Amino acid sequence: MEIALLGNPNTGKTSMFNNLTGSYDYVGNWSGVTVEKKVGVFKSNESKLIDLPGIYSLSPLSEDEGVVTKFLLHDPFDRILNIVDASQLERNLQLTIQLLEFGKPIVIGLNMMDVAKNRGILVNVEKLGEMLGVPVTPVVARSGKGCRELEEQVTTHFDGSFSSNLVDYGKEIDEAILALEALLQNHSAHSTRWLTIQLLEGNEYVKDYLTTFIAESNLDSLIQQTTEKALANSNAKTIAQFIYKQRQAAIAAILKESTKRDENKGIPLTEKIDAIVTNRWLGIPIFLLLMYFMFMLTFDWLGTPLSDALDGLITGPVTDGLTNLLNAAGASEFIHSLVIDGIVAGVGGVLVFVPQIFILFLFISILEDSGYMARVAFVMDRLMEKVGLNGKAFIPMIIGFGCNVPGVMAARTIETPRERLLTILLTPLMSCSARLPVYALFVGAFFTINKAFIVLSLYVLGIVVALILASVFSKTILKGETSMFVIELPPYRVPQVKALWRSTWDKSKGFVRKAGTIIFAGSVMIWILSYAGPNGMNVAMDDSFLAMIGGIFAPLLAPIGFGNWQAGAALLTGFLAKEAIISTMNIIYFAPTEAGLQELLSQYFTPLAAYSFMVFILLYIPCLATVATIYKETRSKKWTAISIVYALALAYVLSLIIYQGGKLLGLM
Ligand code: GDP
Ligand code: MG
Repeated sequence: MEIALLGNPNTGKTSMFNNLTGSYDYVGNWSGVTVEKKVGVFKSNESKLIDLPGIYSLSPLSEDEGVVTKFLLHDPFDRILNIVDASQLERNLQLTIQLLEFGKPIVIGLNMMDVAKNRGILVNVEKLGEMLGVPVTPVVARSGKGCRELEEQVTTHFDGSFSSNLVDYGKEIDEAILALEALLQNHSAHSTRWLTIQLLEGNEYVKDYLTTFIAESNLDSLIQQTTEKALANSNAKTIAQFIYKQRQAAIAAILKESTKRDENKGIPLTEKIDAIVTNRWLGIPIFLLLMYFMFMLTFDWLGTPLSDALDGLITGPVTDGLTNLLNAAGASEFIHSLVIDGIVAGVGGVLVFVPQIFILFLFISILEDSGYMARVAFVMDRLMEKVGLNGKAFIPMIIGFGCNVPGVMAARTIETPRERLLTILLTPLMSCSARLPVYALFVGAFFTINKAFIVLSLYVLGIVVALILASVFSKTILKGETSMFVIELPPYRVPQVKALWRSTWDKSKGFVRKAGTIIFAGSVMIWILSYAGPNGMNVAMDDSFLAMIGGIFAPLLAPIGFGNWQAGAALLTGFLAKEAIISTMNIIYFAPTEAGLQELLSQYFTPLAAYSFMVFILLYIPCLATVATIYKETRSKKWTAISIVYALALAYVLSLIIYQGGKLLGLM
């Protein structure tokens, strides 16, 4: 007898496999993919157990997951052993129901009984079996408890008749089943009910299979008609979601009867925290509050004093030391100015912000390691779903807060090409750490009382714009269905100091390294451009090449509040790296200290113009490294160009609205 081992990821399938089987009959790969195929022989008899990839749903998101559907459709086997995690029944039963609908005899191994017990979940195993209509055996695969009973259950004869229509999907879907039945004319040996539901859920492999009997256009019109009818009086957005919700309702009813909470146990801490943190109404406010706290820490309580101290060190002893050194070496006026006014001002101006960056990353690392970030994705899912993405896409975006480059790369974890591309396009809108120094400088100069709030508003603006654009893109150039979101919520834990240190450093080192490379080179270049002009060397700044180049853009920038060549030049260098904006300003304004620079800035910017400028910096263009990464990840010149053009247009329009609107409202 051949038995297929199926279940969600991490439910203990491999542990069970090792427990039940003694020797391997076969180890290889499933055809077409790199997923390992293992077939084991039972210890006590000749039955074979086939290990399949863990999946949350039959409808596959990736080729690897398609293995299971292909197996069910084409491979001969006798029974299914479905491993179910007793502590995660609600999610696990989604798959179980799809397997029941398939119609082959099933035995359920209810694993992780120990975990469920610890979490205060009491499962009435008999009742659960009765309601599902199949044998359920409780086990602990890790210790081997219950495995003998399960083995006996699965290999000996049992009455394989059970109801395969546990879930009532409504009359529209029942009609679709009859329609497919008529189209199939007994050509397929598989359950028509199962085929119909899988087809409607978007299972490509089932559709492929059906096209061997039925013209694709017929299938498409069946899907379309059923979708229209079923969604007409439902609040589901897609037919897949509709089916998912029907199943969810049936599962809730089953669990209500067959599980209960252990009264003596008390609710576990993780669940107590989650009840608040992932609450429908509180989830997003809590996230915003935490971000606000993070910026207070970065800008007011800790980061700024540290940065000021570093600034004092660089502009004081370091500059003095270097000046003495240069004088002693008899350096020329040119070299002296290059080092002090170019490199020290440019690189030092950026390095000053290292403490703030570090604190920000430490905070983000704490949120990640404690398990909170997974909750943020979960909380954001509801919003993301409305705009054609799912919560998973928020994770690359959060990474993008650190640096857009790894953020764009993290979009690889998103399975559907449409959502992946969308995420890649939107991640650069997340305010990365390189933009932080610009905010720090400007809020320090113009918004001393509510620094954290102003910075928070910029971060939130990035997110909101991304959500709106996602919605626009998914209605226009990137149409398609949103895939279902499944995420493991790990239990909360106290982050370990060593791990925290490592991940904070991993994130910050890029910033430091960039200061030594691209910012260094950029500073030299900018300084030379500011030192030389059409009329020779050592010209007044306003007659330099830099002023000429920046001046080209100045008229364009006037309507958005900063029509001076300095801003134009800074924005141009900002494309190389956003920190270069700070370097450029330090060099241009020739400011001896950060405080001095802030004072000078107020001659060129009003507070309103400063806010408009920060919004422009947030949105106007992904930096060079990000553009290169977008190209690498999409392999498309078109999408890379779109990512630049839309950002520029968006930045200009928003800054225009903010500046002109602000002026109309009488703001300065
Ligand atoms: P698979 O991904 O479904 O193959 O799951 P694995 O067999 O790799 O198990 C995932 C994790 O759960 C491993 O760390 C196992 O040791 C653990 N595990 C498996 N079964 C049990 C169980 O019954 N109780 C507990 N506490 N842990 C288990
Ligand atoms: Mg495994």
